[in-house]
Amino acid sequence: MLAPGSTIGILGGGQLGRMMAVAALQLGYRVIGYAPEGDNVAADACSGFITAEWDDSEALAAFAAACDVVTWEFENVPLGTVQALPSPLLGCPLRALEVAQDRLNEKNFVSGLGGSPAPYARIETEADFAEALIRIGTPGILKTARDGYDGKGQWRVRSAMEANGIRFPNVPCVYEGFVTYETEFSVILVRGRDGSVRFWDSTANLHDGGMLTRSLLPAGAMVEAQVPQARELAARVAAELGYVGVLTLEFFATREGPVFNEMAPRVHNSGHWTIEGAATSQFENHIRAICGLPLGGTATRFEAIEMRNIVGEEALTAHTILAEPGEPHLHLYGKREAREGRKMGHVTRVGHALK
Ligand code: AMP
Repeated sequence: MLAPGSTIGILGGGQLGRMMAVAALQLGYRVIGYAPEGDNVAADACSGFITAEWDDSEALAAFAAACDVVTWEFENVPLGTVQALPSPLLGCPLRALEVAQDRLNEKNFVSGLGGSPAPYARIETEADFAEALIRIGTPGILKTARDGYDGKGQWRVRSAMEANGIRFPNVPCVYEGFVTYETEFSVILVRGRDGSVRFWDSTANLHDGGMLTRSLLPAGAMVEAQVPQARELAARVAAELGYVGVLTLEFFATREGPVFNEMAPRVHNSGHWTIEGAATSQFENHIRAICGLPLGGTATRFEAIEMRNIVGEEALTAHTILAEPGEPHLHLYGKREAREGRKMGHVTRVGHALK
């Protein structure tokens, strides 16, 4: 168990790091963040923050020297950055990042463990794309294999005609069949150093333009019926990776069962409701796991819960939400620029307490 007063290093400077840092402070730890120049809102909650490029070996050495354990809040931290740190410092094996940074690796890995993704193909050339359009057909989605998030780096392909109009990106991509689903949901689990696993309830996740807008509990009968199978897969993924901390797998609930979409080796936007809505939040349990502390309960505390993201300029007037009935829980991330489509905060509303 990491002693109180020890220092947790967080790679990445966004809102996930900020909320993780708050949980770590509460448990008596110090936090040092590390990220390149940017709107690093995690820094507000850290006792130290190193602003440096991912490949700055001197800065990384200073970071490593100051930390007792290191975690990440951003799955696209370059592997070289993590490899530059002494491996005993890592709260979770590097393999989780390796698998999750590339959509193709991720789909191959999860398929190998019995998961069912949408039909997919690796696309490197126009000829690969033409072949995939024949084998998989349309509609479908072309996605960059790496570095995509919140629907960025994705092109919907409604027909073969439309495919001709796509300016082919000069990076490896994945083409996947479009899934007709009832609802999207996620399985969020925490796995301790001893291999024990706990799951939070799965929310129904609503998206707009590829970005999560709302998470709802209860998630509905269809999701609830598919959660056991999705959890089994998620637990296999976590065990195979020797995972420690919070891991998220996203699914489409279809008439044929849960279709795997993607995974995130970290805390997740669809788990923000756990701060007020669960016995222990995803952020706190992530910190507990990487520090070797006993994990907290994950039970849901209310009959109904809604988490809604606050995006773009809505954040400028978001404090008015506090005057609304039902005691909404407002979280603002302190981002300096309220750009369109940018996640600026979230609000969680809860119903009656469960007995
Ligand atoms: P991703 O970045 O892969 O999670 O995609 C972002 C969002 O786009 C998903 O949450 C879905 O709403 C939508 N989406 C992605 N892939 C598919 C697919 N194969 N079929 C239908 N919708 C998809």
